[in-house]
Formats: sequence, structure tokens, C-alpha cells
Amino acid sequence: MSTDFTFVVEKKCPVCGRAARVVKVKSRLVAVQVDNDYCCHYRDFNPYLYHIWVCEHCSFAADEKVFLTPLPPARQELVADALLAKHVHFGFSEERNVPDGIASLKLAIYCAELLRAPIARRAGLMMRLAWIYRINGDKELEREFLEKTLKLYERSLETERYPIESLTDNMVMYLIGALCADLGDNKKAVIYLSKLVGSKNAPAGNDKISRDARRLWQEVREREQESLQDTEQHKPEPRAQSSRKTAASAKKKNGFGRWFS
Ligand SMILES: [Zn+2]
Repeated sequence: MSTDFTFVVEKKCPVCGRAARVVKVKSRLVAVQVDNDYCCHYRDFNPYLYHIWVCEHCSFAADEKVFLTPLPPARQELVADALLAKHVHFGFSEERNVPDGIASLKLAIYCAELLRAPIARRAGLMMRLAWIYRINGDKELEREFLEKTLKLYERSLETERYPIESLTDNMVMYLIGALCADLGDNKKAVIYLSKLVGSKNAPAGNDKISRDARRLWQEVREREQESLQDTEQHKPEPRAQSSRKTAASAKKKNGFGRWFS
């Protein structure tokens, strides 16, 4: 039961100003796996389904931090009108299933677009959407949304000034590397991760990113080498000397911590 892991509080909606019930996740969750892109898997519970708070009156959707930040009146009006015109209604429920979690994140992405939130923030929401698909075992949609996340982070890195909230450009470079690796673009992954490896540029306090980047950089390079060897072995040469199996194993994602909740 998800209610073993959640509790309900009332918060003032920054758009309509009314008291809305929202669900918070209890902090004591047991992580069983952390992926390269910092997606955390927990036993018997998926907190990403609850990442977004949705106002039960006007359907404004955002993560806790954004929800608790007051909006200027012009913005309130803009969002309220847009949600009204779309006839969005998202009823309150303490328990969320996968479709609820997906709908809440899509609604939050829409609201972030309305508010012209930083691209990096939209990328973070998109990545959580991909994680819900991942945890649900829906590989095709996971991939589709990881690709969208990657494009947003790349655009953010080119056009936005960091830090953005708690996110630094080094973190985004690492994430781009991890996403490329996950999507099978090892060459591009190495290019981004190389920028963080051997990092005299990496500022103090970013040690974890450098360590994670180094580990993933090594893993991706090994993967590249394996696939090169496999290509060599499968060349139609007159005498292939062994029948070694390819086993280009889908490598287990390493366990890392994460920097943002
Ligand atoms: Zn509201």
C-alpha cells in the first residue's frame, strides 16, 4: 500500500490561492539500485509517481519547490486561463498508479512551459517521466523520453547560465554522458565524460561528479573496446580463430548516489 509510504498535507496553491491537499513521501525508503543517471529504485514503492503536486482545484502541477514559490499575479492568470481553456481536471487521490504519475508529470511539463521555466528544469521533469517508464518496464517509452531529456539538457548547456537552482554545468555534462551511454551513443558519452575526467577544472565540492564520471567513462570505454573486438571477430576473414560469444552484455547500471531529490 502506498499509504505506508506517504502522508497528506495542505498547501496553498500558487496559482488559485486555495488550500490544496498534496501527498508527501516519507523519507525512510530503502534504495535497492541507483542507475547511472541517478534514477533510484526502491523496494515496493516508486516515489517518482508522487514527485509532482497537483492542485485539486485548478490543476496547477509542479514539484514541491516550485509549488511552494509564490507567483506574480500576471503569471497566476496566465496559467489559470491556460488550464481552464484546456479543461484539465486532476482529482485528488492519496494513492497514485502509473498512469496518474505519468499524467502528473506531463501536466507539470506543460505548466513549466507556460511559465517559461529554465530548460534544465523541464529536462529534469522529462527525465523523471522516463524513469517512471523504466521502473514500469516500458522500454520503448523510456527511450523516447530519455532522448527528449538528452536534447533538452544539450540545449540547456548551450543556452543557459549555470548554476540553475542546485544544478551545475558539470552535473549536466555528466548527465548528458550518462544518457548517451544509456542510449548506446558511446562515442558522444566519452566526449562529455572526458570533460570531467582528470578534472583540474572540476571545482572542489564536485568530487562525486568527477568520481562518477571517471567510473562511467571507464565502463563506456571498455564497452567500446568490447564492441570493437566483436566487430573484428565477426569480420568475414578467412580464418576466424575462435567462436567466442559476443555477450555484449547490457551492463548493469552502477550504483551512485544522487544530488537532487
Ligand atoms: Zn490551484
